Amino acid sequence: MTCSIGTDVQHAAAILRDGGLVAFATETVYGLGADALNPQSVARVFEAKQRPKFDPLIVHVAELAQLDSLVKQVPPMAEQLAAAFWPGPLTMVLEKESIVPDLVTAGLTTVAVRIPAHPLALDLLRKANIPVAAPSANPFGRISPTTAAHVAEQLGDEIDYILDGGPSQVGVESTVLQLTADAPLLLRPGGLALEDIEAVIGPVSIPNPDARPELTAQHSPGRLPKHYAPRTPLVIQNIDSMDVKAGTRIGLLAFSTPSDVSDFTAVEVLSADGNLNEAATHFFAALRRLDAAGVDQIIAEPFPDEGLGRALNDRLKRAAQK
Ligand code: AMP
Ligand code: MG
Repeated sequence: MTCSIGTDVQHAAAILRDGGLVAFATETVYGLGADALNPQSVARVFEAKQRPKFDPLIVHVAELAQLDSLVKQVPPMAEQLAAAFWPGPLTMVLEKESIVPDLVTAGLTTVAVRIPAHPLALDLLRKANIPVAAPSANPFGRISPTTAAHVAEQLGDEIDYILDGGPSQVGVESTVLQLTADAPLLLRPGGLALEDIEAVIGPVSIPNPDARPELTAQHSPGRLPKHYAPRTPLVIQNIDSMDVKAGTRIGLLAFSTPSDVSDFTAVEVLSADGNLNEAATHFFAALRRLDAAGVDQIIAEPFPDEGLGRALNDRLKRAAQK
């Protein structure tokens, strides 16, 4: 690991303005940031992560006013959502202005934007005074980072500075919502619950990936089946219905405190009393520890399909893909 870790926002902002790469804390996961309006800097993000160019990036800003130069218009629904949830774990996909490089949006006519809620991220965005394109700060397809140390382990050689804001409080990526048509479309469940969004703007459509995979891919090109993956094979299973083969070393990713853990070599409990928000906060770090525990297989309990449980089930499903 060669890059330095610290809390020097001024330094981090100067690096971004000079075209460099800064990983920074947000409330969702750590982001790998570059000047969104500088295609050469953005290209370095794709290289560092080995991310395919068809997977567009989210642009981060500090103020609502910065949106005007990036998007053609802010529809009334987007205004309502911004008032209710920004800064916060909601990304909105809107029609882009030509100033946004094609590399950022993977050639789409839309751009994804959000205002993150972490005070250090906001300070960085204000001091840099540029929109910052930032995917999660991990190699493509792997487990997302929720601490500065996670970033350093995986990408330390590729980036110029890591802005350390402590462990991410939300713990899963932002909810991505497309707002370019009459009906809002949920492209990715994430750190803001669908129920909270619907309470403000009414019903949101959810594309069914099983029925029309090509439609989902067209709307959100980065939603690949395999993602967030540990190196250890992961299986989703209710532990009550489990049948463990003798001699197999199994790691358990448990939602709440299990009644019997005698079958497992390693156990991670995400929330002792089954709180979905707390489980999300600990999710990726726990998955990393199990991946490092030297087990043959990770068994993960499914989450209730409500609140942040939708985002957690989505991440589990992709982590379990072969
Ligand atoms: P990440 O930066 O890894 O959190 O992923 C961002 C995801 O947001 C991408 O993989 C896409 O699925 C989605 N996204 C970003 N920009 C757009 C866009 N312009 N249109 C649709 N989806 C987008
Ligand atoms: Mg990611």
